[in-house]
Amino acid sequence: MSAARLTIDLAALAANHATLRAAAPGAVVAPVVKADGYGLGAGLIAGRLWDEGARDFFVARLSEGLALRAAMGAARPARIFVLDGLAGVEAGALVDAALTPVLNSAEDIARWRGVGGACAIHIDTGMNRLGVDVDDARAAADLKVELVMSHLACAADPASPRNARQLALFREARARFPDAPASLAASAGIYLGADYHFDMVRPGISLFGGGPREVPDPAFRAVARLEAPILQVRDLKAGDAVGYGDSFVADRAMRIGLLAAGYADGLLRRAMGRASAWIGDAPAPILTVSMDLLAVDLTQSPGARPGDLVELLGPRAHVDDLAAATGTVAHECLVRLSPRAERVRLG
Ligand SMILES: *Cc1c(COP(=O)(O)O)cnc(C)c1O
Repeated sequence: MSAARLTIDLAALAANHATLRAAAPGAVVAPVVKADGYGLGAGLIAGRLWDEGARDFFVARLSEGLALRAAMGAARPARIFVLDGLAGVEAGALVDAALTPVLNSAEDIARWRGVGGACAIHIDTGMNRLGVDVDDARAAADLKVELVMSHLACAADPASPRNARQLALFREARARFPDAPASLAASAGIYLGADYHFDMVRPGISLFGGGPREVPDPAFRAVARLEAPILQVRDLKAGDAVGYGDSFVADRAMRIGLLAAGYADGLLRRAMGRASAWIGDAPAPILTVSMDLLAVDLTQSPGARPGDLVELLGPRAHVDDLAAATGTVAHECLVRLSPRAERVRLG
């Protein structure tokens, strides 16, 4: 191995799926595989989850729906919901690929009436993202509504009063569609309790190992593992500088490792000075990041040598820790993983 490699652990994905199913036993688990399966490959991810029993999937864009339909093929007739709905797309393109739009506005509802296939309706319960106002949703009563859904703004914080407010509004809205199954919870919402499960839950990040509360949760396994080999080991004296703009200056004699990975492989530049890589069980703080090369502190791995593998993301370099250190969320850390790193699948 000569450069960064991304391992996609499908056995971990299956285990996370089982964990979510057990957490919401009365509900259908409909995986969210938007953004090309959170950067890991929607066809690969959905294909494995189909084998695990999943039949309903969510994507964001029409283009993602078309790609997923093609990847699943005729042998796997999944129900694929497109969260963006009709905005800016020809309804016929959805119909031709048997995609189910999520209607998000009074205009979507009016347009779909002229087409008339199965649809979902997204009701805004206070997040002010996409979604129909509760009163406008009434207009959809004569459509073939296969799902009534909404989305929670603050589910990662169980103490937020917004959760109960959204739940109450959602209950009121869904009562107007007594025959349609309902869905409110994404990964975080599932852990707010059974009141939030309804008929279907829509996890994304926790399928891939992100903790539902945005902190590492041992119930979920890392699906993405980014590793890179040490190319060179260097001994620095106090005062020696490393990288562009002298971005790191040693305050003592120390050993560093240069790795064949950088932001071109998806590692955020903000990780420097903030996040840690791992060599076995020892942390190796990230000192500098450039396009192709990254320097780590080998103080805790004095025996590390060129060719040794360093984990940049995975079971130890947890995606939630990396996200917290770099001021973002696990979702962004995953979708940044670029196609340059060689991809290997496991399980
Ligand atoms: C992205 C998304 C999800 C999945 O969210 P996670 O936090 O990744 O579990 C579910 N529902 C909607 C509407 C979304 O946009």
